[in-house]
Amino acid sequence: MDATCLIFPSSAETFKVTALTRECNQVCIYVQSNQHNCLCPGCSNPSKRVHSYYTRKFRDVPAFGNPCTLLLKARKFYCLQDECPVKIFTERFCNHFLPYRRSTTRLHHVCLNLALQTGGKLAERIAKLMNIQISDTSLLRIVNNEHLPEAETPYALGIDDWAYKKRGRYGSILVNLENRRIIDILNDREACSIERWLKVHPGIGIITRDRYGNYIKGATSGAPQALQVTDRWHLLKNLGEAANKIITREYARMNKITKTEEILYTEPLNTSDPDTSPVSDGIRKQRFDYLKKLQNDGLSIKRMAKLLGMHRQTVKKYMAMQILPRKIYNDQGMVEQYFPYIRQRMQENKDLYLKTLWTELKERGYNGAYSTLSDALIYYGIRLGKKVSRQQLPNSGRMSFKPSKVAMIFLTAEEKLTDRQRELLQKVCEKSTELTITLSLIRAYRQIMTNKNGSKLKDWIDKAKSSGIKEMFRFAEGLLTDYAATESALSLPWSNGPVEGNVNKLKTIKRQMYGRASFELLRKRLVLAPA
Ligand SMILES: [Zn+2]
Repeated sequence: MDATCLIFPSSAETFKVTALTRECNQVCIYVQSNQHNCLCPGCSNPSKRVHSYYTRKFRDVPAFGNPCTLLLKARKFYCLQDECPVKIFTERFCNHFLPYRRSTTRLHHVCLNLALQTGGKLAERIAKLMNIQISDTSLLRIVNNEHLPEAETPYALGIDDWAYKKRGRYGSILVNLENRRIIDILNDREACSIERWLKVHPGIGIITRDRYGNYIKGATSGAPQALQVTDRWHLLKNLGEAANKIITREYARMNKITKTEEILYTEPLNTSDPDTSPVSDGIRKQRFDYLKKLQNDGLSIKRMAKLLGMHRQTVKKYMAMQILPRKIYNDQGMVEQYFPYIRQRMQENKDLYLKTLWTELKERGYNGAYSTLSDALIYYGIRLGKKVSRQQLPNSGRMSFKPSKVAMIFLTAEEKLTDRQRELLQKVCEKSTELTITLSLIRAYRQIMTNKNGSKLKDWIDKAKSSGIKEMFRFAEGLLTDYAATESALSLPWSNGPVEGNVNKLKTIKRQMYGRASFELLRKRLVLAPA
């Protein structure tokens, strides 16, 4: 096979390979140009008059694991036009060799894509494995020199924000919802930036966004013709938060009525269990009491979080609670089925160690963690080994639920509920009319969502507002402020899902760069990288 066809398959008539050698572990390819004439870069007229010959040296993609150097014998031409300011010019080529470049176009593409996909340092290491000698800074320079293409105007656009630093500085991401690719990212999430971008790209039909005020404002003024669609996931999330508040409040109220130490959601479903006294919660309880004291003193959430070393969300959660709920262990029900065996072993051996018991249970098919077993036994007031605090296991397991878990069950589709969850819903609703109304409202809302029946939203809002439940009233009021977009969200198939996925991708790339990425580099890596 002819070497020219092998090395330049698409332009065998422009170049001719004159020699192939191997010098000092390098493959050297000698090439000469076969072009008949060349266009002057000053006046674009062709010239055939050769001034001189010179050799250009390029790095090419490695050949069979060896670094590869390409030596091109090129020419200089006279420009034949008297009025042209250029007198002598170097030979230009349409592909493979660009002016001033010292690597071939194909090597340049490999390096560019490596840097776009993996960033500077990692790309340098991969390039080294492939026998391409290039530094991380050179790779980043290649990315920086690459121009961003003019952003296309999509029919359906999704907007969301992403954090440079959470609770600090934010940017925006714009995604084409039809091909799910990132079109552009913006440096902030101000209404004016969105508006400016939309005005430069007129003709967008659909804009999906969350309920952030700046996006509503920016989209309305930047693209008044576009139909706005609220993100469905956020709508469901806000409804869930409202439900959580109602359930927390109702639990506290019902607890006051029953006046028992144990609050409702740790009430045993099997009343034959003789011992229902709560387990003291030690440090957790102390911290809770301290927080309640601070709350009464009127401290801010931030200050309390700092003093207690607690997360702000935990502080918020505790602030809404009247009484500290029992800590529930994970995977309830897993340990309970081994009660007969545990009881038998406890009778046989008073000094039984938990580790021994765990090993034995594992042989009998228990596949939970050691910590789950430990938590479960603590939950039932059992201490194994020397510290025996209670030797009797209850006859059956208790069933406990946190308000947030019950809220999740409220939001779950009816046909997906397990028997245990159904039973719990029934018990909870029996005790509170507010929760019964909440459940029926949530189910009606889900119906609208699954059947894409946006036109029924108005009725639902009226019902929610007249339900007499303040959280539902507030949620419905919120929907009214953004009514048209919410109705579209409940009638149209468009969703912000592809945007959320791309935000995830953005975060991964951002963190890969250890906080050293500039906005421009991040933008190029996201927009230019091939899918
Ligand atoms: Zn010229």
